[in-house]
Amino acid sequence: MSLLKVDNLKKYFAVSSGFLARLRKKESYVHAVNGVSFDIKKGETLSLVGESGCGKSTIGRTVLGLYEPTAGDIYYDGRRVNDMSEKEKFKLKEKMQMIFQDPYSSLNPRQKVKEIISEPIRTHNIVSNEEMDDYILKLLDKVGIDESYLNRYPHQFSGGQRQRIGIARSLAVEPEFIVADEPISALDVSIQAQILNLMMDLQEEFHLTYLFIAHDLSVVKHISDRVAIMYLGKVFEIGDKKEIFDHPVHPYTEALFVSIPKLTEKTKENFVSLEGDVPDPIYLPSGCYFHSRCKYASNICREVEPELKEIDGRQVACHLYD
Ligand code: SF4
Repeated sequence: MSLLKVDNLKKYFAVSSGFLARLRKKESYVHAVNGVSFDIKKGETLSLVGESGCGKSTIGRTVLGLYEPTAGDIYYDGRRVNDMSEKEKFKLKEKMQMIFQDPYSSLNPRQKVKEIISEPIRTHNIVSNEEMDDYILKLLDKVGIDESYLNRYPHQFSGGQRQRIGIARSLAVEPEFIVADEPISALDVSIQAQILNLMMDLQEEFHLTYLFIAHDLSVVKHISDRVAIMYLGKVFEIGDKKEIFDHPVHPYTEALFVSIPKLTEKTKENFVSLEGDVPDPIYLPSGCYFHSRCKYASNICREVEPELKEIDGRQVACHLYD
């Protein structure tokens, strides 16, 4: 059974200020997420992959309730989140946590490690005050931080250590589901693999379910069970990791996968260069959103939007497979 299900999710942001908005004299919208559906089973890792601005982080934040969806539904453990009472939504916040890209900006610089981790424990009443120190020490041990660091501030740690503290804080409320938004992309390449392996160990130990957001394909290949390839707020291809990496079917996936560097290679951007730019998300193209960059585009691609269909054991949105 799915732990999380997202059904036809849309998220638009109003563009209400600035010269262009005044010139248009009417409200425009950035169409960040344009009808996305997927589900994640308990204990599974689904990765959302795509170029910057494709809507993957917006999906993560909307799933966690940080943004209100423009349309569509989110179900957790079979229940529609919008049907839950405020009390149930508060409980859900315990179960759904986030690991951020930049551990430094996500940790309060004025708080010591002990305060950072104890804050959510107190908010959600996880353990009593008497049990608190012991509980925090166990958490720090799980993420590989020595107990002697309990009274240090975030600036006294390396990037990798800060991310370990961020992970400990997420685990503190005993979550089931974690959105990891580019959790290693701000770290040195030399420690990226350590954090990734830590996340995988913790997943096994605590039966965690991950929605993993990344642009680095080698990282995605390492951690995922299933992969969703995104473009301009749409899922173009979704399925089993091995199937998609071994045999990409969608032209966009194919272009992305032409070259996949190793995790140890120092590289900023792993995508192969595609011809042309991603269209403006304010003015969505007609037909297939990829048609202006696709070497296989035909007339139907410019006019009719392809729907996700079952092809070779995965779902693909492309007229080549009609
Ligand atoms: Fe290319 Fe057409 Fe397929 Fe879109 S629908 S990816 S334009 S072939």
